[in-house]
Amino acid sequence: MTDLTPPPLANDCFALPPGVDWTPVDEALAALRDRLAPVTGTETIRAVDGLGRILAVPVIAGRSNPPQPNSAVDGYGFAHAGVVPGPNRMPLVEGRSAAGEPFPGTVPPGHAIRILTGATIPAGVDTVILQEDIATDGQNIAFHGPLKPGANTRRAGEDVDDGDEILPVGRRLTPADIALMTAVGVDRIEVRMPLRVGVISTGDELAEAGTKARADQIYDANRPMLLAMAARLGFVPVDLGRVADDRDSLRAAMDAASTAADVILTSGGASAGDEDHVSALLKESGSLSHWRIAIKPGRPLALAMWNGTPVFGLPGNPVAAMVTALIFARPAFGMLAGEGWNLPEPLLLPAAFSKSKKPGRREYLRARLRDGRVEVFGSEGSGRISGLSWAEGLVELPDEAAEIAPGTLVRYLPYAAFGL
Ligand code: AMP
Ligand code: MG
Repeated sequence: MTDLTPPPLANDCFALPPGVDWTPVDEALAALRDRLAPVTGTETIRAVDGLGRILAVPVIAGRSNPPQPNSAVDGYGFAHAGVVPGPNRMPLVEGRSAAGEPFPGTVPPGHAIRILTGATIPAGVDTVILQEDIATDGQNIAFHGPLKPGANTRRAGEDVDDGDEILPVGRRLTPADIALMTAVGVDRIEVRMPLRVGVISTGDELAEAGTKARADQIYDANRPMLLAMAARLGFVPVDLGRVADDRDSLRAAMDAASTAADVILTSGGASAGDEDHVSALLKESGSLSHWRIAIKPGRPLALAMWNGTPVFGLPGNPVAAMVTALIFARPAFGMLAGEGWNLPEPLLLPAAFSKSKKPGRREYLRARLRDGRVEVFGSEGSGRISGLSWAEGLVELPDEAAEIAPGTLVRYLPYAAFGL
């Protein structure tokens, strides 16, 4: 199979119809789902090397599992037709059938054979009795009927039939999937090339981790966070550095980013202020859409195409950057990477907190689960990085107004549900 790279996304794919204001989260997500498509090429690899890779083509079983009928237990096999209700006695044939050492002959009617777990069922046998259910003198076995025909045997193909589709396009392969592919003789699979997620931080106030910061500087926390997030989600993080609040440097960084990465995440400078160079530059490129999404924390989100590469301009506040990355960028990465559109499944759990929420926008609180109840971080300040680290997930409060008291069921999204 030849390696294929999909066509580029349309340059105006993020454009919103004129007059659109304060897009609800669900509408913004639906728009992303509709406008994005896989951008990664494909390659053929060995199935055993496929952990975490995304299937570009469905996987078809190359043989049945099990390939032949075999025994599910250690016991004795015989033809069910010879079994009577009440006491049975059968002479044993010489030899046995063990896993990997099948019995070559045929077991005559009325005779039994020693058979072990995983062993091919010999000709003349259709039923197996557990060794615990018989008595033997070494020459014969005795047991009580009746028995179910076919008892303790596994049918050929009862798990998977040769030719079955065992895994669909878009599947991100798990250890269990590797077992399944191996079991049915699949050696080569066609997968997507890993999505390269480029991360840029912007801001004159930022200092690099590990260097001495001036008193007025803050350490760049977003870039390490977003790179770690990309890695944890199974994508390839591409560190594109830190850029000052300067149009030319930013333009150069974006040019480099658009060849080094399949999707670009920037943080900072995404609003419409004097020093918001990301949105200003993207506007120049003609493809900027400011998505004023009705979400807290997190607005605004700047979406644009730069030299054909999608750009997510995230807010600079670390909490807002992480929330928007999880809520919007993560499912978008799935589409771009060929995994399809996947949203986390919230768990409905009782709150351990009180909150009176106004209508008009969706809110995400830093949260964690303790003793079966969801507790939230004491402060909602979007600069509070300690709260991000304290949390083990987010609580999603609805777009509408909500009155939450201890015991009210809330939607809890553990970080793990996002794949973190
Ligand atoms: P901005 O979106 O650029 O206006 O930034 C909003 C806030 O987030 C400001 O307080 C910034 O200093 C802060 N901020 C921006 N980028 C980062 C970053 N990479 N790491 C930590 N804080 C940041
Ligand atoms: Mg800034």
